[in-house]
Amino acid sequence: MTHNEEFAKRLAEWRHQIHENPEKAFEEVATAAFVAERLKEMGYEVHRNIGKTGVVANLKAGEGTRAIGLRADMDCICMTEEGEHPWSSKTPKQMHACGHDGHTVTLLGAAELLAKKPDFDGTVRLIFQPAEEPGKGAQAMMEDGLFERFPMDEIYGLHNDPIRPKNTFHMRAGGMLASEDNFTIRIKGRGGHASAPQDTIDPMVVAAQVILALQTIVSRNVCPADPAVVSCTELFTDGVHNAMPNTVTILGDTRSTTPEAQRMIEERMEALCRNICAAYGAECEFTYTHEFVPLVNDETCVAHAAAAAGKVVGAEKVDRNAKPLMASEDFARFLTKVPGCYIQIGGAEEDRETCPVHNSRFDYNDDTLETGAWYFYELVRTCLPK
Ligand SMILES: [Zn+2]
Ligand SMILES: [Zn+2]
Repeated sequence: MTHNEEFAKRLAEWRHQIHENPEKAFEEVATAAFVAERLKEMGYEVHRNIGKTGVVANLKAGEGTRAIGLRADMDCICMTEEGEHPWSSKTPKQMHACGHDGHTVTLLGAAELLAKKPDFDGTVRLIFQPAEEPGKGAQAMMEDGLFERFPMDEIYGLHNDPIRPKNTFHMRAGGMLASEDNFTIRIKGRGGHASAPQDTIDPMVVAAQVILALQTIVSRNVCPADPAVVSCTELFTDGVHNAMPNTVTILGDTRSTTPEAQRMIEERMEALCRNICAAYGAECEFTYTHEFVPLVNDETCVAHAAAAAGKVVGAEKVDRNAKPLMASEDFARFLTKVPGCYIQIGGAEEDRETCPVHNSRFDYNDDTLETGAWYFYELVRTCLPK
């Protein structure tokens, strides 16, 4: 990587411009227009409105038939920014608290490097996806024919990690981020006077049994080597202090890092809920929704990503065996169709406030934009060698 002051400064300016004007899921109209304009200026063939507001741009070099996808996300979070920068969000309840402004500009930076020096053989497809935060944008692009219209052999994504040291890279083969599923369990008993339990089917007692039983799935059913979480997070009843309720509703959230564990959690949950309810004569309505799939990196693609990152920052700043995280990421949906690798770039440094993502004071570290752009550039050269 050759540091270029002018390039780094321009990337920071672009980032500030997007940061000031954050747009939420599927409403990234101005952001997509900005991205498309920059890409056209660089000479890319640009396709808009894929998955509503998504953008895809292609660049071909040489005669090679292989293609790789590089993906960035564009949406903001619905929270009010509390940081004080000249480029702070102008819109209340919308801010780039996850750094998708930085990811978008990192990929634009890579686009510029690739267009200026297309030192590869094949096709690069730049994917700017909408709606990562609600986990709906990747699916929307796929339903719009992303992989049929723009076939690719591998796909790569990058996310910032503001806690790890600046310009270090982190990844792992296999499960790196968790699935997220949500559940609603509605237990219907028969309410009645608090003094006469014999005349009721008390759904409170059934719910208590269910909540405790659900905690045995991770401890007794899921393989201890596969991290997983089952959390009951909300509890509602229609009772009052001197009457047993008719119904109790339990809501919650589960995480896992393999498709097998994800399936197992769903199956065991349903079996426990239905059978415990049946044992007490209560009825059970069980609803389970898949929000995010587990993010599973491909081993060969991890090797490519690690080699490329090593070329940019040195192998000692590349961690190929990072711990899995229980957060979730929409990029995982792409990985169910095409092998690839998701990588994190550190953003923490001394003399800079360290703020986690999804915090109202978060701001992307501009000093990582150029490094990220070079990572993607080297990745293309690694995956599509001449
Ligand atoms: Zn986020
Ligand atoms: Zn994010």
